[in-house]
Amino acid sequence: MSDTIFTKIINKEIPADIVFEDDSCIAFHDVNPQAPTHILVIPKIQIARLAEAGEEDQALLGHLMLKTREIAKNLGFEDAYRVVINNGEGAGQTVFHLHIHLLAGRPFSWPPG
Ligand code: 5GP
Repeated sequence: MSDTIFTKIINKEIPADIVFEDDSCIAFHDVNPQAPTHILVIPKIQIARLAEAGEEDQALLGHLMLKTREIAKNLGFEDAYRVVINNGEGAGQTVFHLHIHLLAGRPFSWPPG
């Protein structure tokens, strides 16, 4: 797959407001936040979208989810936040490097738009 803007963030070629980083993932504030707190949690390896993840990515996907929970807690959110993965253009995905949206700090309705 080809590089996206997130590869440049991983490689520190463009700036981002990073809140967490380890060997396998990086998390940073969304440039166009849809909630008072809007963080993107992404793997450092390139997986275009959830549909492209394989069995070999099982531990990584679990790691991303647990880190998302930890980041939410560290930012003061334990009781109410929303976690979203848009898979494919039809679901609103615009950057084809797998990412988890962590949204918090406002009420969320259901179903989502
Ligand atoms: P998607 O629509 O693919 O689920 O989410 C992509 C997200 O990446 C969007 O919320 C968009 O605002 C965010 N985004 C796109 N380009 C950049 C960027 O250069 N920096 C940051 N921090 N976020 C970005």
